[in-house]
Amino acid sequence: MNVEQTTKWLALFAAKINDNKQYLSDLDSAIGDGDHGMNMARGTTEMQKALEEKQPDTLMDIFKLAGMQLVSKVGGASGPLYGSAFLGMAKAAKDSDDLATILEAGLEGIQKRGKAVAGEKTMIDTWVPVIAAVKANELTKEVVEQAAQSTIDMQATKGRASYLGERSIGHLDPGSVSSQYLFETMIEAGV
Ligand code: ADP
Ligand code: MG
Ligand code: MG
Repeated sequence: MNVEQTTKWLALFAAKINDNKQYLSDLDSAIGDGDHGMNMARGTTEMQKALEEKQPDTLMDIFKLAGMQLVSKVGGASGPLYGSAFLGMAKAAKDSDDLATILEAGLEGIQKRGKAVAGEKTMIDTWVPVIAAVKANELTKEVVEQAAQSTIDMQATKGRASYLGERSIGHLDPGSVSSQYLFETMIEAGV
């Protein structure tokens, strides 16, 4: 992956979050507190502004700036989690430009912070199958969407949705859908 693709990727991601912020918040209203879309849109808008102003010219600096913006501007549970993902990706991008290596470091960042594993109805449930598909050279938008959809049947055991217990089953996890957008735009940008 290179700087040009990654810059395009994050611009597309910010736009996609903004276009779908109401939908993401509606998903969060069903099993959380209804703010996921607004949280994410606030953060990705600031992220995009900072990237345009500073024009970082290495993968590491792009991810670092993005991560710092997301940590400080998104808020909620997802801000520190996406922030940790991007800061983990920044660290990995210091020594590598391999997509799978960088995404794995992002997932590690989320898990260090949030302690969730696969199957707990969180954004992790999008990341894990996507990374497996990247490694197998089989990533498509269908794979990404299917990963997010898989959270419908899960019971949440982490985050706000876990307060609902079994009643969380039957709903899409909002963070899995914002991560779906992250990976769909990654594909669109040709990363
Ligand atoms: P909040 O729950 O604080 O209002 P958001 O609504 O912005 O935060 O984000 C909720 C999303 O965060 C969930 O849909 C889920 O995907 C993700 N999430 C919550 N807790 C965790 C965790 N421990 N690990 C990974 N993802 C998590
Ligand atoms: Mg919320
Ligand atoms: Mg909240």
